Amino acid sequence: MDFNDTPAEAEFRAKVRAWIEANAQEYLEPPAEPWGLDEFVARSKAWQKKKYDAGYAGLTWPKDVGGQGLSPMHQIIFNQEESRTYVPTGLYAIGLGMCIPTVFTHGTPEIIRRYVPKALEGVEVWCQLFSEPVAGSDLASIRTRAVRDGDDWVITGQKVWTSFAHRSDFGIIITRTDFDAPKHKGLTMFIVDMKAPGVEARPIRQMSGSSDFNEVFFTDVRVPDSHRLGAVGDGWKVALTTLMHERLAVGGKPRHAPGWRALMELARGIEADGTPALERADVRLRIADTYIADEGIKLTQMRALSALSKGAIPGPEQSISKVVVARTMQEMSAFALELAEAGGLVVEKGSPIERLQQAYMGAAGLRIAGGTDEILRNIIAERVLGLPGDLRPDKDIPFSQIRPL
Ligand SMILES: Cc1cc2nc3c(=O)[nH]c(=O)nc-3n(C[C@H](O)[C@H](O)[C@H](O)COP(=O)(O)OP(=O)(O)OC[C@H]3O[C@@H](n4cnc5c(N)ncnc54)[C@H](O)[C@@H]3O)c2cc1C
Repeated sequence: MDFNDTPAEAEFRAKVRAWIEANAQEYLEPPAEPWGLDEFVARSKAWQKKKYDAGYAGLTWPKDVGGQGLSPMHQIIFNQEESRTYVPTGLYAIGLGMCIPTVFTHGTPEIIRRYVPKALEGVEVWCQLFSEPVAGSDLASIRTRAVRDGDDWVITGQKVWTSFAHRSDFGIIITRTDFDAPKHKGLTMFIVDMKAPGVEARPIRQMSGSSDFNEVFFTDVRVPDSHRLGAVGDGWKVALTTLMHERLAVGGKPRHAPGWRALMELARGIEADGTPALERADVRLRIADTYIADEGIKLTQMRALSALSKGAIPGPEQSISKVVVARTMQEMSAFALELAEAGGLVVEKGSPIERLQQAYMGAAGLRIAGGTDEILRNIIAERVLGLPGDLRPDKDIPFSQIRPL
Protein backbone atom coordinates (compact mmCIF):
# COMPACT_ATOMS: atom_id res chain seq x y z
CA MET A 1 0.00 0.00 0.00
CA ASP A 2 1.44 3.39 -0.99
CA PHE A 3 0.33 6.17 1.38
CA ASN A 4 1.87 8.95 -0.71
CA ASP A 5 0.02 11.10 -3.25
CA THR A 6 0.75 10.51 -6.93
CA PRO A 7 2.20 13.66 -8.61
CA ALA A 8 -1.29 14.51 -9.97
CA GLU A 9 -2.88 14.03 -6.53
CA ALA A 10 -0.17 16.17 -4.89
CA GLU A 11 -0.88 18.94 -7.40
CA PHE A 12 -4.63 18.77 -6.70
CA ARG A 13 -3.97 18.77 -2.94
CA ALA A 14 -1.80 21.89 -3.20
CA LYS A 15 -4.52 23.66 -5.21
CA VAL A 16 -7.22 22.70 -2.68
CA ARG A 17 -5.05 23.68 0.29
CA ALA A 18 -4.38 27.12 -1.19
CA TRP A 19 -8.10 27.64 -1.90
CA ILE A 20 -9.13 26.56 1.60
CA GLU A 21 -6.50 28.74 3.23
CA ALA A 22 -7.76 31.71 1.21
CA ASN A 23 -11.48 31.02 1.75
CA ALA A 24 -11.81 29.43 5.20
CA GLN A 25 -9.76 31.97 7.15
CA GLU A 26 -12.39 32.35 9.85
CA TYR A 27 -12.50 28.56 10.39
CA LEU A 28 -8.83 27.83 11.01
CA GLU A 29 -9.48 27.73 14.79
CA PRO A 30 -12.51 26.25 16.63
CA PRO A 31 -15.30 28.78 17.29
CA ALA A 32 -14.81 30.71 20.53
CA GLU A 33 -18.47 30.01 21.45
CA PRO A 34 -20.55 27.10 20.09
CA TRP A 35 -22.92 28.22 17.32
CA GLY A 36 -26.66 28.05 17.89
CA LEU A 37 -28.68 26.04 15.35
CA ASP A 38 -29.66 29.07 13.21
CA GLU A 39 -26.08 30.24 12.93
CA PHE A 40 -24.86 26.70 12.22
CA VAL A 41 -27.40 26.33 9.37
CA ALA A 42 -26.59 29.76 7.90
CA ARG A 43 -22.82 29.14 8.03
CA SER A 44 -23.21 25.62 6.59
CA LYS A 45 -25.24 26.95 3.64
CA ALA A 46 -22.76 29.75 2.98
CA TRP A 47 -19.78 27.35 3.02
CA GLN A 48 -21.49 24.80 0.74
CA LYS A 49 -22.41 27.57 -1.74
CA LYS A 50 -18.84 28.86 -1.71
CA LYS A 51 -17.56 25.38 -2.53
CA TYR A 52 -20.17 24.96 -5.26
CA ASP A 53 -19.31 28.28 -6.89
CA ALA A 54 -15.59 27.42 -6.82
CA GLY A 55 -16.15 23.95 -8.35
CA TYR A 56 -15.43 21.99 -5.17
CA ALA A 57 -18.93 20.66 -4.38
CA GLY A 58 -19.86 17.14 -5.51
CA LEU A 59 -16.43 16.45 -7.01
CA THR A 60 -17.38 12.91 -8.06
CA TRP A 61 -20.81 13.84 -9.46
CA PRO A 62 -21.37 14.17 -13.23
CA LYS A 63 -20.97 17.67 -14.62
CA ASP A 64 -24.51 17.83 -16.02
CA VAL A 65 -25.98 17.68 -12.50
CA GLY A 66 -23.62 20.26 -11.03
CA GLY A 67 -20.66 18.05 -10.12
CA GLN A 68 -17.10 17.96 -11.44
CA GLY A 69 -16.79 14.41 -12.84
CA LEU A 70 -13.64 13.66 -10.81
CA SER A 71 -12.55 10.49 -8.99
CA PRO A 72 -13.29 9.43 -5.35
CA MET A 73 -9.60 10.15 -4.57
CA HIS A 74 -10.18 13.82 -5.47
CA GLN A 75 -13.09 13.92 -3.03
CA ILE A 76 -11.01 12.24 -0.33
CA ILE A 77 -8.15 14.69 -0.78
CA PHE A 78 -10.59 17.61 -0.61
CA ASN A 79 -12.20 16.14 2.56
CA GLN A 80 -8.78 15.64 4.18
CA GLU A 81 -7.80 19.24 3.53
CA GLU A 82 -11.21 20.58 4.57
CA SER A 83 -11.09 18.61 7.83
CA ARG A 84 -7.94 20.51 8.89
CA THR A 85 -10.32 23.43 9.47
CA TYR A 86 -13.50 23.91 11.50
CA VAL A 87 -15.84 24.68 8.57
CA PRO A 88 -19.39 23.43 9.25
CA THR A 89 -20.26 20.46 7.00
CA GLY A 90 -22.48 18.20 9.14
CA LEU A 91 -25.76 19.66 7.87
CA TYR A 92 -25.15 17.94 4.51
CA ALA A 93 -23.65 14.65 5.71
CA ILE A 94 -26.90 12.71 5.37
CA GLY A 95 -28.33 14.58 2.36
CA LEU A 96 -25.27 14.58 0.14
CA GLY A 97 -23.77 11.41 1.62
CA MET A 98 -26.85 9.18 1.53
CA CYS A 99 -30.12 10.71 0.23
CA ILE A 100 -28.86 12.28 -2.99
CA PRO A 101 -26.90 9.16 -4.07
CA THR A 102 -30.19 7.25 -3.60
CA VAL A 103 -32.14 9.83 -5.65
CA PHE A 104 -29.44 9.66 -8.34
CA THR A 105 -29.53 5.85 -8.49
CA HIS A 106 -33.31 5.37 -8.44
CA GLY A 107 -34.85 8.67 -9.61
CA THR A 108 -36.11 9.44 -13.13
CA PRO A 109 -34.00 11.86 -15.27
CA GLU A 110 -36.51 14.67 -14.48
CA ILE A 111 -36.24 14.03 -10.73
CA ILE A 112 -32.43 13.96 -10.90
CA ARG A 113 -32.31 17.24 -12.85
CA ARG A 114 -34.75 18.86 -10.43
CA TYR A 115 -33.12 17.85 -7.13
CA VAL A 116 -29.42 16.95 -7.44
CA PRO A 117 -27.94 20.35 -8.47
CA LYS A 118 -29.85 22.26 -5.77
CA ALA A 119 -28.64 19.79 -3.15
CA LEU A 120 -25.01 20.09 -4.29
CA GLU A 121 -25.32 23.87 -4.18
CA GLY A 122 -26.53 23.53 -0.60
CA VAL A 123 -29.73 25.48 -1.26
CA GLU A 124 -31.92 22.51 -0.35
CA VAL A 125 -31.23 20.37 2.72
CA TRP A 126 -32.27 16.69 2.90
CA CYS A 127 -33.06 14.24 5.67
CA GLN A 128 -33.39 10.44 5.90
CA LEU A 129 -36.82 9.30 7.14
CA PHE A 130 -36.19 5.64 7.95
CA SER A 131 -36.31 4.84 11.71
CA GLU A 132 -39.62 4.53 13.56
CA PRO A 133 -40.49 3.88 17.22
CA VAL A 134 -40.66 0.12 16.54
CA ALA A 135 -38.24 -0.12 13.62
CA GLY A 136 -34.59 0.88 13.94
CA SER A 137 -32.16 -2.00 13.64
CA ASP A 138 -35.03 -4.02 12.19
CA LEU A 139 -35.80 -1.38 9.57
CA ALA A 140 -37.99 -3.71 7.50
CA SER A 141 -40.59 -3.57 10.32
CA ILE A 142 -41.62 0.03 9.55
CA ARG A 143 -45.36 0.79 9.69
CA THR A 144 -45.70 4.21 8.08
CA ARG A 145 -48.19 3.52 5.31
CA ALA A 146 -48.56 4.93 1.81
CA VAL A 147 -51.88 4.39 0.00
CA ARG A 148 -52.38 5.13 -3.70
CA ASP A 149 -55.01 7.82 -4.50
CA GLY A 150 -55.16 8.78 -8.19
CA ASP A 151 -51.80 10.24 -9.24
CA ASP A 152 -50.76 10.69 -5.61
CA TRP A 153 -49.84 8.58 -2.61
CA VAL A 154 -51.14 9.46 0.85
CA ILE A 155 -48.63 8.92 3.66
CA THR A 156 -49.54 8.47 7.34
CA GLY A 157 -47.29 7.46 10.22
CA GLN A 158 -44.39 8.46 12.43
CA LYS A 159 -40.62 8.56 12.03
CA VAL A 160 -38.11 9.22 14.81
CA TRP A 161 -34.45 10.26 15.32
CA THR A 162 -34.57 12.09 11.98
CA SER A 163 -31.44 14.26 11.93
CA PHE A 164 -32.08 17.87 10.86
CA ALA A 165 -35.69 17.14 9.77
CA HIS A 166 -36.65 20.52 11.29
CA ARG A 167 -34.19 22.24 8.95
CA SER A 168 -34.73 20.09 5.86
CA ASP A 169 -36.53 20.92 2.64
CA PHE A 170 -36.92 17.32 1.42
CA GLY A 171 -36.52 13.80 2.71
CA ILE A 172 -36.42 10.25 1.42
CA ILE A 173 -39.08 8.25 3.23
CA ILE A 174 -39.52 4.49 3.38
CA THR A 175 -43.17 3.42 3.65
CA ARG A 176 -45.22 0.23 3.65
CA THR A 177 -47.50 -0.07 0.62
CA ASP A 178 -48.45 -3.74 1.03
CA PHE A 179 -49.14 -5.11 4.52
CA ASP A 180 -49.83 -8.63 3.20
CA ALA A 181 -46.39 -9.15 1.65
CA PRO A 182 -43.40 -10.40 3.73
CA LYS A 183 -41.83 -7.49 5.59
CA HIS A 184 -38.99 -6.74 3.14
CA LYS A 185 -41.25 -6.98 0.08
CA GLY A 186 -44.13 -4.56 0.77
CA LEU A 187 -42.02 -1.39 1.01
CA THR A 188 -41.83 1.65 -1.29
CA MET A 189 -39.58 4.73 -1.14
CA PHE A 190 -40.59 8.31 -1.94
CA ILE A 191 -39.21 11.83 -1.95
CA VAL A 192 -41.29 13.92 0.43
CA ASP A 193 -41.51 17.70 0.67
CA MET A 194 -40.86 18.54 4.34
CA LYS A 195 -42.94 21.72 3.99
CA ALA A 196 -46.03 19.86 2.66
CA PRO A 197 -49.30 20.06 4.64
CA GLY A 198 -49.46 17.25 7.23
CA VAL A 199 -45.70 17.06 7.94
CA GLU A 200 -44.75 18.02 11.49
CA ALA A 201 -41.18 17.80 12.82
CA ARG A 202 -40.82 17.95 16.61
CA PRO A 203 -37.21 18.44 17.78
CA ILE A 204 -35.86 16.13 20.52
CA ARG A 205 -33.65 17.77 23.14
CA GLN A 206 -30.39 15.88 23.74
CA MET A 207 -28.21 15.69 26.87
CA SER A 208 -25.64 17.93 25.15
CA GLY A 209 -28.32 20.67 25.13
CA SER A 210 -28.72 20.76 21.34
CA SER A 211 -31.61 19.43 19.28
CA ASP A 212 -30.21 17.83 16.15
CA PHE A 213 -32.87 15.23 15.59
CA ASN A 214 -36.66 14.93 15.60
CA GLU A 215 -39.82 12.96 15.80
CA VAL A 216 -41.64 13.50 12.49
CA PHE A 217 -45.37 12.96 12.13
CA PHE A 218 -47.10 12.43 8.76
CA THR A 219 -50.85 12.96 8.60
CA ASP A 220 -52.38 12.34 5.15
CA VAL A 221 -49.38 13.83 3.37
CA ARG A 222 -49.82 13.76 -0.40
CA VAL A 223 -46.83 12.80 -2.56
CA PRO A 224 -47.10 12.61 -6.37
CA ASP A 225 -46.33 9.21 -7.91
CA SER A 226 -43.59 10.96 -9.94
CA HIS A 227 -41.72 11.26 -6.61
CA ARG A 228 -41.52 7.52 -6.06
CA LEU A 229 -37.97 6.12 -6.03
CA GLY A 230 -37.85 2.67 -7.63
CA ALA A 231 -40.77 0.36 -8.29
CA VAL A 232 -43.73 -0.14 -5.96
CA GLY A 233 -42.67 -2.88 -3.51
CA ASP A 234 -38.96 -2.37 -4.26
CA GLY A 235 -38.33 -0.01 -1.32
CA TRP A 236 -35.98 -2.43 0.43
CA LYS A 237 -33.68 -2.50 -2.59
CA VAL A 238 -33.72 1.33 -2.68
CA ALA A 239 -33.03 1.49 1.07
CA LEU A 240 -30.00 -0.76 0.61
CA THR A 241 -28.52 1.88 -1.71
CA THR A 242 -28.90 4.44 1.09
CA LEU A 243 -27.47 2.06 3.71
CA MET A 244 -24.49 1.21 1.50
CA HIS A 245 -23.65 4.91 1.28
CA GLU A 246 -24.29 5.28 5.02
CA ARG A 247 -21.52 2.74 5.65
CA LEU A 248 -19.12 5.00 3.78
CA ALA A 249 -20.49 8.23 5.27
CA VAL A 250 -20.43 7.28 8.97
CA GLY A 251 -17.52 4.84 9.15
CA GLY A 252 -14.69 7.16 10.16
CA LYS A 253 -13.63 9.04 13.24
CA PRO A 254 -15.59 12.30 13.67
CA ARG A 255 -13.60 15.37 12.66
CA HIS A 256 -11.46 16.73 15.53
CA ALA A 257 -12.58 13.95 17.90
CA PRO A 258 -9.96 13.62 20.66
CA GLY A 259 -7.65 10.60 20.61
CA TRP A 260 -4.73 9.32 22.69
CA ARG A 261 -2.96 12.71 22.53
CA ALA A 262 -5.87 14.42 24.33
CA LEU A 263 -5.72 11.86 27.14
CA MET A 264 -1.94 12.27 27.44
CA GLU A 265 -2.26 16.06 27.52
CA LEU A 266 -4.85 15.80 30.29
CA ALA A 267 -2.81 13.28 32.30
CA ARG A 268 0.27 15.46 32.05
CA GLY A 269 -1.54 18.38 33.67
CA ILE A 270 -3.27 16.75 36.65
CA GLU A 271 -2.49 14.73 39.76
CA ALA A 272 -4.43 11.68 40.88
CA ASP A 273 -4.15 10.47 44.49
CA GLY A 274 -1.16 12.78 44.98
CA THR A 275 0.82 11.37 42.03
CA PRO A 276 1.20 12.92 38.55
CA ALA A 277 -1.47 11.08 36.57
CA LEU A 278 0.95 10.26 33.78
CA GLU A 279 3.01 8.10 36.16
CA ARG A 280 0.11 5.81 37.02
CA ALA A 281 0.27 2.39 35.35
CA ASP A 282 -3.48 2.29 34.57
CA VAL A 283 -3.29 5.72 32.86
CA ARG A 284 -0.30 4.68 30.76
CA LEU A 285 -2.06 1.46 29.82
CA ARG A 286 -5.18 3.37 28.73
CA ILE A 287 -3.10 5.77 26.62
CA ALA A 288 -1.38 2.78 24.98
CA ASP A 289 -4.73 1.02 24.33
CA THR A 290 -6.18 4.20 22.79
CA TYR A 291 -3.06 4.67 20.66
CA ILE A 292 -3.34 1.10 19.34
CA ALA A 293 -7.06 1.57 18.54
CA ASP A 294 -6.41 4.96 16.85
CA GLU A 295 -3.65 3.46 14.69
CA GLY A 296 -5.85 0.47 13.81
CA ILE A 297 -8.65 2.81 12.73
CA LYS A 298 -6.24 4.89 10.63
CA LEU A 299 -4.88 1.82 8.86
CA THR A 300 -8.37 0.35 8.30
CA GLN A 301 -9.37 3.63 6.67
CA MET A 302 -6.20 3.58 4.59
CA ARG A 303 -7.20 0.13 3.38
CA ALA A 304 -10.59 1.52 2.31
CA LEU A 305 -8.87 4.47 0.55
CA SER A 306 -6.53 2.10 -1.19
CA ALA A 307 -9.53 0.08 -2.45
CA LEU A 308 -11.23 3.29 -3.64
CA SER A 309 -8.11 4.51 -5.45
CA LYS A 310 -8.10 1.22 -7.41
CA GLY A 311 -11.75 1.73 -8.38
CA ALA A 312 -13.22 -0.79 -5.88
CA ILE A 313 -16.03 -0.01 -3.42
CA PRO A 314 -15.09 -0.71 0.21
CA GLY A 315 -17.21 -3.63 1.44
CA PRO A 316 -18.82 -4.67 4.74
CA GLU A 317 -15.39 -4.69 6.44
CA GLN A 318 -15.86 -0.90 6.64
CA SER A 319 -18.19 -1.61 9.61
CA ILE A 320 -15.12 -2.46 11.71
CA SER A 321 -14.08 1.20 11.81
CA LYS A 322 -17.29 2.51 13.33
CA VAL A 323 -17.46 -0.18 16.01
CA VAL A 324 -13.90 0.60 17.13
CA VAL A 325 -14.14 4.40 16.73
CA ALA A 326 -17.31 4.76 18.82
CA ARG A 327 -16.30 2.34 21.57
CA THR A 328 -12.79 3.78 21.89
CA MET A 329 -14.14 7.33 22.02
CA GLN A 330 -16.65 6.45 24.73
CA GLU A 331 -14.29 4.38 26.91
CA MET A 332 -11.36 6.79 26.62
CA SER A 333 -13.42 9.91 27.36
CA ALA A 334 -15.21 8.22 30.31
CA PHE A 335 -11.81 7.23 31.73
CA ALA A 336 -10.51 10.79 31.25
CA LEU A 337 -13.49 12.42 32.97
CA GLU A 338 -13.16 10.05 35.91
CA LEU A 339 -9.44 10.75 36.12
CA ALA A 340 -10.16 14.48 36.32
CA GLU A 341 -12.45 13.76 39.32
CA ALA A 342 -14.67 16.78 40.09
CA GLY A 343 -12.91 18.71 37.27
CA GLY A 344 -14.49 16.26 34.83
CA LEU A 345 -17.90 17.77 35.60
CA VAL A 346 -16.92 21.42 35.18
CA VAL A 347 -17.30 22.94 31.72
CA GLU A 348 -14.31 25.20 31.23
CA LYS A 349 -14.09 26.76 27.77
CA GLY A 350 -10.86 25.92 25.93
CA SER A 351 -9.58 23.49 28.62
CA PRO A 352 -8.24 20.05 27.49
CA ILE A 353 -11.19 18.48 29.31
CA GLU A 354 -13.81 20.33 27.24
CA ARG A 355 -13.24 18.30 24.07
CA LEU A 356 -13.27 15.10 26.13
CA GLN A 357 -16.63 16.09 27.65
CA GLN A 358 -18.05 16.67 24.18
CA ALA A 359 -16.66 13.34 22.99
CA TYR A 360 -18.23 11.58 25.97
CA MET A 361 -21.66 13.05 25.25
CA GLY A 362 -21.42 12.37 21.50
CA ALA A 363 -20.08 8.82 21.73
CA ALA A 364 -23.30 7.24 23.03
CA GLY A 365 -25.18 8.40 19.92
CA LEU A 366 -22.33 7.35 17.67
CA ARG A 367 -22.62 3.77 18.97
CA ILE A 368 -26.25 3.74 17.77
CA ALA A 369 -26.48 5.99 14.68
CA GLY A 370 -25.88 4.33 11.32
CA GLY A 371 -26.15 0.84 12.85
CA THR A 372 -25.65 -0.15 16.50
CA ASP A 373 -22.52 -1.99 17.66
CA GLU A 374 -24.45 -5.28 17.77
CA ILE A 375 -25.84 -4.89 14.25
CA LEU A 376 -22.43 -3.98 12.84
CA ARG A 377 -20.92 -6.97 14.63
CA ASN A 378 -23.59 -9.15 13.01
CA ILE A 379 -22.60 -7.71 9.61
CA ILE A 380 -18.92 -8.41 10.28
CA ALA A 381 -19.72 -11.93 11.53
CA GLU A 382 -21.95 -12.84 8.61
CA ARG A 383 -20.50 -10.97 5.67
CA VAL A 384 -16.80 -10.68 6.49
CA LEU A 385 -16.11 -13.78 8.60
CA GLY A 386 -18.73 -16.02 6.96
CA LEU A 387 -20.27 -17.13 10.30
CA PRO A 388 -23.87 -18.42 10.43
CA GLY A 389 -26.58 -15.75 10.07
CA ASP A 390 -28.67 -14.15 12.83
CA LEU A 391 -32.09 -15.80 13.37
CA ARG A 392 -34.76 -14.12 11.22
CA PRO A 393 -37.92 -16.16 11.90
CA ASP A 394 -40.36 -13.54 10.55
CA LYS A 395 -38.62 -13.01 7.22
CA ASP A 396 -41.07 -14.87 4.97
CA ILE A 397 -44.33 -14.28 6.87
CA PRO A 398 -46.85 -11.69 5.59
CA PHE A 399 -46.20 -8.52 7.59
CA SER A 400 -49.84 -8.29 8.73
CA GLN A 401 -49.45 -11.69 10.48
CA ILE A 402 -46.21 -10.94 12.35
CA ARG A 403 -47.85 -8.96 15.13
CA PRO A 404 -51.11 -7.07 15.50
CA LEU A 405 -51.12 -3.75 13.64
C1 LIG B 1 -27.35 10.57 16.60
C2 LIG B 1 -28.37 9.76 15.83
C3 LIG B 1 -28.82 10.21 14.60
C4 LIG B 1 -29.76 9.45 13.90
N1 LIG B 1 -30.23 9.94 12.69
C5 LIG B 1 -31.16 9.25 12.02
C6 LIG B 1 -31.71 9.76 10.79
O1 LIG B 1 -31.35 10.85 10.34
N2 LIG B 1 -32.66 9.06 10.15
C7 LIG B 1 -33.10 7.85 10.63
O2 LIG B 1 -33.95 7.24 9.98
N3 LIG B 1 -32.64 7.33 11.80
C8 LIG B 1 -31.68 8.01 12.50
N4 LIG B 1 -31.19 7.51 13.69
C9 LIG B 1 -31.77 6.28 14.24
C10 LIG B 1 -30.85 5.06 14.15
O3 LIG B 1 -30.74 4.60 12.84
C11 LIG B 1 -31.46 4.00 15.10
O4 LIG B 1 -31.45 4.52 16.41
C12 LIG B 1 -30.68 2.70 15.04
O5 LIG B 1 -30.86 2.06 13.81
C13 LIG B 1 -31.10 1.74 16.18
O6 LIG B 1 -32.47 1.57 16.19
P1 LIG B 1 -33.32 1.73 17.54
O7 LIG B 1 -32.92 3.02 18.17
O8 LIG B 1 -34.75 1.52 17.19
O9 LIG B 1 -32.81 0.58 18.50
P2 LIG B 1 -33.26 -0.96 18.43
O10 LIG B 1 -33.16 -1.45 17.04
O11 LIG B 1 -34.56 -1.11 19.12
O12 LIG B 1 -32.12 -1.64 19.29
C14 LIG B 1 -32.14 -1.68 20.73
C15 LIG B 1 -30.96 -2.55 21.18
O13 LIG B 1 -31.13 -3.90 20.72
C16 LIG B 1 -29.99 -4.32 19.98
N5 LIG B 1 -30.39 -5.20 18.86
C17 LIG B 1 -31.40 -4.97 17.98
N6 LIG B 1 -31.45 -5.99 17.08
C18 LIG B 1 -30.46 -6.87 17.41
C19 LIG B 1 -30.01 -8.11 16.86
N7 LIG B 1 -30.59 -8.64 15.78
N8 LIG B 1 -28.95 -8.72 17.46
C20 LIG B 1 -28.34 -8.17 18.55
N9 LIG B 1 -28.75 -7.00 19.13
C21 LIG B 1 -29.78 -6.37 18.57
C22 LIG B 1 -29.39 -3.02 19.45
O14 LIG B 1 -28.01 -3.18 19.14
C23 LIG B 1 -29.63 -2.06 20.61
O15 LIG B 1 -28.62 -2.22 21.58
C24 LIG B 1 -30.25 8.23 14.42
C25 LIG B 1 -29.77 7.77 15.67
C26 LIG B 1 -28.86 8.53 16.38
C27 LIG B 1 -28.39 8.02 17.71
